[in-house]
Amino acid sequence: MKAPPFAYARARSLPEVFKLLDTHGPGAKLLAGGQSLLAALNLRLASPDILIDISRIPELTGIKVEGGKVHIGALTTHAEIERSAEVAAHVPLLAQAAPHIAHAAIRNAGTLGGSIVMADPAAEWPACCVALDAEFLLAAQAGSRRMKARDFFKGVYTTDLRPNEVLTGVEFPAQSAAHVSTFLELALRRGDYAIVGVAAVANKTSGVLTDVRLAYLGAGETPVLARGAMSAAAAGRPAADVAAALAADLRPAPDLYNSAETKLHLARVLTGRALAALAG
Ligand code: FAD
Repeated sequence: MKAPPFAYARARSLPEVFKLLDTHGPGAKLLAGGQSLLAALNLRLASPDILIDISRIPELTGIKVEGGKVHIGALTTHAEIERSAEVAAHVPLLAQAAPHIAHAAIRNAGTLGGSIVMADPAAEWPACCVALDAEFLLAAQAGSRRMKARDFFKGVYTTDLRPNEVLTGVEFPAQSAAHVSTFLELALRRGDYAIVGVAAVANKTSGVLTDVRLAYLGAGETPVLARGAMSAAAAGRPAADVAAALAADLRPAPDLYNSAETKLHLARVLTGRALAALAG
């Protein structure tokens, strides 16, 4: 199928984006890397009146480490994150997760912001952001606000973003020397969206894990912070008990190939592997 007709405007600054959003209202859609939006247009799942191209706005690019935070601009591509020395040093979970996103050509064009706003429950970045307790920076003509990643995702492809807002960047706490992380997922084929996956972080001191955070993808309508499993880990319970606690945390939806029970089982298997990797 072909995309429905739409107007096109390339914005060169954030104020220009705000003006265009206010002029066109809910009929406008922002275009970043186009790797999800263009497919949605071609499938006629979206029919905006106008696409506002934000892909050349300098304020939305770049990776900066400052004041104990790592700031990543919304337009930073998956590939730039994958290759960044700052990311590898200060938020290694992102470097571990990036190779799981689609294929190289898509990682070269798709952006951090686009993936977060798309809010696919099987996407890698939203789960990483929840695991790392990241904050999203949102801006509109009327002002800007911040929101914790864990509060932003509201349902399948649904977020707290307001129609006239832009996600400008994401702030991650820069990790300490005690920080350990791992990202694991199972997919039918390399490059496919995950059946289920886990973003796992902790602190490790003298071989003991503390502050374990486990966020799952493909295991609910949004990325899921598994609070029951995390409490079991905090209480020093064995990995099998942590994995068992997932029954109360996760509500995976069945897909064409996997039942909800299979997905829960796979999430438990990944949890055992993730805890072993963090401890190892
Ligand atoms: P776009 O397609 O340009 O936009 C997506 C949505 O976000 C649109 O609604 C747009 O208006 C909005 N948007 C974009 N940027 C902003 C912003 N800064 N502020 C507010 N709204 C914004 N993704 C995965 O996570 N894992 C995968 O395994 C995976 N596999 C894929 C396989 C294929 C074959 C394809 C085509 C895509 C796949 N993707 C996967 C999606 C890919 O990662 C996209 O790049 C990403 O989801 C969207 O990023 P984008 O920059 O291309 O956004």
